[in-house]
Amino acid sequence: MRNNVVAGNWKMNKNLSEAVALISDIKNGINNLEVKTEAIICPPFVVLETAATLLKESNVKLGAQNMHFEESGAFTGEVSASMLKSVGCEYVILGHSERRAIFNETNDVINKKNKQALKSDLKPIFCVGETLEERENGTMKSVLEVQITEGLANITEDELSKIIVAYEPVWAIGTGKTATPDQAQEVHYFIRSLIANLYTQNAAEKLIIQYGGSVKPNNAAELISQPDIDGALVGGACLQADSFLEIIKAGG
Ligand code: PEP
Repeated sequence: MRNNVVAGNWKMNKNLSEAVALISDIKNGINNLEVKTEAIICPPFVVLETAATLLKESNVKLGAQNMHFEESGAFTGEVSASMLKSVGCEYVILGHSERRAIFNETNDVINKKNKQALKSDLKPIFCVGETLEERENGTMKSVLEVQITEGLANITEDELSKIIVAYEPVWAIGTGKTATPDQAQEVHYFIRSLIANLYTQNAAEKLIIQYGGSVKPNNAAELISQPDIDGALVGGACLQADSFLEIIKAGG
């Protein structure tokens, strides 16, 4: 009932000409893949408008990596949800662990961003995940529960249907350490059960939950084939067309 979704988070990589080359390679390569998996690329802000033009008549979707939670105003250096929508974004990554750790984003800020994105008809890819310390000291599930409960506060079931949750254990991001398929499946099952308690069983069954954290062509298929894993949020391996396309292929 759920389709797999693979999204590429480019982070702060690729200038305009490099981005144009990568997008062209992805666009050409995806035509040769017979997959149902939905593909999304999330390049830096300055590339979004060009990316939207290049992706016209392609089934690759476009997302941004962040936005401000206010509609407009005196927030120097920030970008709003409606601006992202106006240049052709359909998705926006929110609550990434780098935003939480480096830019001090709290669950409350991420909740405001989720709500503003939905109001502007952008679909959040809402990231959650525990640190290694939290996993080892036994607080992983309570940390995830707080991130999810507070991040989704006052979001209706109808709005939830537009959100993708990305489970990204912080210790696996950019480290080459991946959660084993069993470890990831256990947490995805936990998140889905939590959503069933917060909303309904139906909402939980429909929710797309991506795994993220050192997903590569050689581990993607095994991770994505787990019953509660519905695709991947990919960092490092999305910066080359070949490896990104391999991961999309692994989604089936
Ligand atoms: C990410 O930053 O969302 C991510 C999953 O990165 P990587 O694949 O490089 O671990």
